[in-house]
Amino acid sequence: MQYRPYGNQGIQLSALGFGCMRLPMEDGHVLEEPSIEMIRHAIDSGVNYVDSAYGYCGSESEIVLGKALQDGYREKVYLATKNPKYDQDGSIWRAALDDQLQRLQTDYIDFYHQHGLNWKAYQDLKPVKGGPFDQFQRALDEGLIKHRVFSFHDKAENLFPLVDTGEFDGVLLQYNLLDRSNEAGLAYAAGKGMGVVVMGPVGGGRLGQPSAEIAKLIPGGVKSTAEAAIRFVLANPNVTCALSGMTKLPDVVENLQTASREEALSAAEKAHLQTMMEENKKLAELYCTGCDYCLPCPNNVAISENFRIMNYHRVYGLTDHAKEQYRRLERKRVSKEERVDARAVVCVECGECIEKCPQNIPIIDQLKEVHATLGA
Ligand code: SF4
Ligand code: SF4
Repeated sequence: MQYRPYGNQGIQLSALGFGCMRLPMEDGHVLEEPSIEMIRHAIDSGVNYVDSAYGYCGSESEIVLGKALQDGYREKVYLATKNPKYDQDGSIWRAALDDQLQRLQTDYIDFYHQHGLNWKAYQDLKPVKGGPFDQFQRALDEGLIKHRVFSFHDKAENLFPLVDTGEFDGVLLQYNLLDRSNEAGLAYAAGKGMGVVVMGPVGGGRLGQPSAEIAKLIPGGVKSTAEAAIRFVLANPNVTCALSGMTKLPDVVENLQTASREEALSAAEKAHLQTMMEENKKLAELYCTGCDYCLPCPNNVAISENFRIMNYHRVYGLTDHAKEQYRRLERKRVSKEERVDARAVVCVECGECIEKCPQNIPIIDQLKEVHATLGA
């Protein structure tokens, strides 16, 4: 196992972290025995960062992780979890923390995240006396948490002001082969001495499936798409740890091997990958740049989203994932209450979008192709 410094905190984290968001489940409940076996195998093999959250796996993830960390395992790891509460008076936030300490059977949590913190919520809640941020400080003072950190799903540009608050020791964010939008932000955070843990290095499962196109990105060859994905993330020197949500023991074994490589990618492999990714980006943009000038569509077709999903198939060879995403567009959420069918197939060929596209994309024909390929 390789280890990397967590910002300027004087802590070395394993390059691979064990994420407990995809523990094996049956009938809505976590299967304890295989979960505990996997977590302990990872720790015995050098993983020292384990992560959960209040609501993962039907709120059973923390409980099972707490059991896995008995028999001396708690002392071997840095334990991370997340508080999803954003109440004004902070009492619900604090109750969640107390609950989590019990579930995890521990006296303290090493990395305590405000779950999905965005810039607006920070600005709203920071000044509130007794609110979550005051509670954060109180928990630090009481020794119940060791590091104040946050997980991030906001727009990439909003990471910068959150880093500039200087309040946080680290951040947990999305970054992978298919989504590099946080690349500049994570470099900024690392430059300010923060630890950077990457969630979804395998693209939330998208990169878990075999793809000849992705395998081709690494000239030396890879055993799987997941290996390419994790090596890409770990090749970024600003990343402390790639946190992978693992469901099966063979995935744990493979990821352990990947994170044990002395060098995630050689200089030549990095250069090759960079060139290939630029080419893929150009190829993807040939089909649509995602500018959304063509919207709104009177019939609710999510035009660029249909094309983006098609690119998972066309450019990256992730066909099963593309089909699944296309199916989901049938009930696309457009507000808290409302969902619409936004699939290519609901296009009525009114032609309103055609003139608005600066790329002159034959939108109607392309939409037909999307449905013919992914709607089967
Ligand atoms: S042609 Fe189809 S996609 Fe374009 S605006 Fe009309 S219904 Fe929407
Ligand atoms: S206007 Fe053209 S390029 Fe822009 S999102 Fe629509 S189809 Fe894509």
